[in-house]
Amino acid sequence: MKIETKCVQSGYTPKDGEPRVLPIYQSTTYKYESTQTMGDLFDLKKDGFFYTRLANPTADAVEKKIADLEGGVGAMLTSAGQAATLISIMNICKAGDHLISASTIYGGTLNLLSVTLKKFGIDVTFVDPETSPEELQKLIRPETKLVFGETLANPALKVLDIEKFASLAHNNGIPLIIDNTFPTPVLCRPIEYGADIVVHSTSKYMDGHAVSLGGVIIDSGNFDWAASGKFPEMTEPDESYHGVVYTKNFGKAAFITKARAQLMRDLGSSPAPMNCFLLNLGLETLHLRMERHSSNALKVAEYLENNDKIDWVSYPGLKSSPDYELAKKYLPGGCSGVIAFGPKGGREASVKFMDSLKLANIVCHVADARTGVLHPASSTHRQLTDKQLIDCGVKPELIRMSVGIENADDIIADIDQALTNI
Ligand SMILES: *Cc1c(COP(=O)(O)O)cnc(C)c1O
Repeated sequence: MKIETKCVQSGYTPKDGEPRVLPIYQSTTYKYESTQTMGDLFDLKKDGFFYTRLANPTADAVEKKIADLEGGVGAMLTSAGQAATLISIMNICKAGDHLISASTIYGGTLNLLSVTLKKFGIDVTFVDPETSPEELQKLIRPETKLVFGETLANPALKVLDIEKFASLAHNNGIPLIIDNTFPTPVLCRPIEYGADIVVHSTSKYMDGHAVSLGGVIIDSGNFDWAASGKFPEMTEPDESYHGVVYTKNFGKAAFITKARAQLMRDLGSSPAPMNCFLLNLGLETLHLRMERHSSNALKVAEYLENNDKIDWVSYPGLKSSPDYELAKKYLPGGCSGVIAFGPKGGREASVKFMDSLKLANIVCHVADARTGVLHPASSTHRQLTDKQLIDCGVKPELIRMSVGIENADDIIADIDQALTNI
């Protein structure tokens, strides 16, 4: 099936007389008629549900749909995108280990890696995504366990050369984890370019309506943990699960099974069944929305580029973008809905412009149906000086616009009237 059909149909196939729409299994608990069955479930010998912290039928159907969309062997939903990133890393890193991450990543992930993982004893080297393969290779240490990056960085809008980072990882017997939140599998499927694990904040385009937080981890099933020899927790008995050996007992699904059996068990960052239901509703129209977000964003970016009150525009779909060639390769169907730009007149002009918008709202969120704007210098990055802002790639006048799925002419008319005020 094509991706559009998978968005609508994958994951849930009712049998005769069952509800046509995926039901919300609002139950923490599942009933069994024998202690033996329950025991087999606890030993991971049988598939089934016993406690919603670990698995739930509503979540299970949505996990199957997303695994199918990304082309993976399995997926696990989490309570938020942050939990998905954390669990994907903790599943293969422990104190004393090291990882390499592109520096152009979401601010929340940057904090997670540089503050919290550091406290856990995991060291991180951040790299400019333009770094040459030779320079990247020099950063690999014996204890380096993974490489991390974002397909389309939030908010830098840098397109990652996934194949370059996949080669770096695979030449060193370690996996590549890609955060694919902004493109979604409709616009890019990182596994096709060599990513081993994919994570998402489903709170963004997948949910699409700004109603529920969530995250997901997808296992490509392609990484050979045994051949690598660097991941004994995958290839040696897990005493906390009666000696299960993940690579032996679960084959291609070793990573995602271990993430659930150990980390979801111990951390409990599970999604609510109601949120899984809402996520599935969002996924049913994802293909239509991504097309419209992308075409609207391109129209707005082109309008801004030709407006003499605007100093600069950043959107990888613009021919003038330094990432245009990478975007043609990795995002041929569109570059998603987020653009960044700076009006002439600096920070004051940005604030005046934003306060004059009527249709576009000032919001911290991105990637839902409604057009929204954010001025990082006066919100998320407000504690930084202008010099510090420039050092971290956020110019003081930068406006991040998440272009919605309204009529593009109306969005542009709103921008136009607000620009007359600066
Ligand atoms: C929002 C976001 C996250 C974090 O997701 P939450 O659902 O807010 O926890 C991670 N990565 C990217 C690229 C994001 O945009």
